[in-house]
Parts: sequence; structure tokens; C-alpha cells
Amino acid sequence: MNIVNDLRDVKRPKGTRGEVKRKRSVAEIVGITLHQTATPDFAANHKGLPQLPAHALIHRDGAISLLHHPTNVVFHGNALNGGTIGIEVACRAAGTEGDLRTLWISKDEKAAGKKPELLVREATDAQLAALEELVRHYISEIAAQGGRIRGLWAHRQGHVSRTSDPGSRIWSVAERVRVALGLEDVRDLKLGSGKTIPPTWRIDTGQGEIAGPNATVSAKTQRGKPVAQAKPAATPKPATKNAVKKRAAKKPAQASDAKRKATRR
Ligand SMILES: [Zn+2]
Repeated sequence: MNIVNDLRDVKRPKGTRGEVKRKRSVAEIVGITLHQTATPDFAANHKGLPQLPAHALIHRDGAISLLHHPTNVVFHGNALNGGTIGIEVACRAAGTEGDLRTLWISKDEKAAGKKPELLVREATDAQLAALEELVRHYISEIAAQGGRIRGLWAHRQGHVSRTSDPGSRIWSVAERVRVALGLEDVRDLKLGSGKTIPPTWRIDTGQGEIAGPNATVSAKTQRGKPVAQAKPAATPKPATKNAVKKRAAKKPAQASDAKRKATRR
């Protein structure tokens, strides 16, 4: 890996975007979330680098800036913050590579009549290679500390406003690594307001599904509720312990409400 910056021990001022929200144990880290910066570039000497809320950033040439230790919780992925490591890839990628209707465009850009074909900047081959190396590195690093990365996530799965994050091209790395290392298949899961991985991002590896039971169980028990609430206990919950407790406490109430309503009718 070509590490150009190591800012992991740099103190960030309170109240800034890059600040450490809290420390977590290695056992709490169950996944890695992939992101795109939605910017054309993010140079290694960019002044805003320490304030980027992620654990690492991959520059256009594949060089890597390490921003935080995995045990630092930073706000990179909404519902995925508590349980996952966040990796940003510097690019402006379409949700589905080649389909410019899936490129995120800001209100200002829309108002200015900016054309998506002039804004799009997909991840480079060097970035994809570096991403795979970095993901594998984190998996080994966490394992060496007694933890286990169970699955790879897209920011899309953590918030409704991030449907094109990281996009199909970057996601192809997650598809490959999941199959190669036999990680859990969490593509049909979502947290908070997030969405599942769309069919256009999925690669047919010719090896079938890795963890079919997850998908089967969640499809059967979902009934319109977020899949994360209906997941079997063995499935990783990338959320804080408190959030999990809250969810657990909420469930019976919802069930009895539903029952009461059903009885009234
Ligand atoms: Zn993101």
C-alpha cells in the first residue's frame, strides 16, 4: 500500500466534522463501508483532509491517506457509523456506471444547468486496486486484534440520501472480496432509511450466493419493516449497543400495537 498521509493520531478540534465521536472496542467493528467523495478529486495535500469523517481516503492515483484508527467512531455513514470502518474513494461516480441519470447532482449544479457528462469522474483502476488492498488489510488487522469483519457495506445501505454511494464501479470490489474471502452476504440488508444493493451493482461470480440464508430469512420476516429490525441474531448489526437495545425494546410495543389495532377491526 502506498500511504501518503498518516493523520491517525492528529487531534481534531471539538465540534468539527472530523472529530472522534467516541472510542469503540474491536469487537464492535463488524463491517467496512465503502464511499465515494462525490467530488472530482481530493488531493493528498488538500487542507480539508483532517476534517474528512472517514477512516481512510484513496486518492486518484491509488495513494492512501489514513485518517483515523478503526477504533475511533467518526460520522461517515449514518446508521453504519457505530459498527463499520469507512473508506472514501475520491471520485464523482454514477450510481450505476455508464448511466448518467444515476449521478448525484447538487441543487446549485442543477440550477446552473450543469451537464452530468461533464461532472462524472469514475474511480480509476489504481483506486480500485488500492481499495481491494486496503479492505483486505483492515480485515487482517481486525482479525489480528481478535475481532472479525463480517461483511462489506455501501453507504447507500445506511441512508436514503446516499443511493449512488459508492456506485457500482467501486462496489465491484466488495463483490469480489466477499466471494474471495467468504464474507457474509449483507447486500439485502439495510439500516435506518437506507436501501439494499441494487441488481445493477451485483456481479454474477458464477459461484452462486455466499450467504443465502440471510436473504431468505429477511425476506420472510421483513413485512415492510427495515430488514435490520427483523434480522436473525447471528447477523452483524452495525449500530451502537444502545441503538440495538432501543430497537429490541421497541419491537414488542410495535407488535402489541399492531395486535390491538387488529383486534379493534
Ligand atoms: Zn458516503
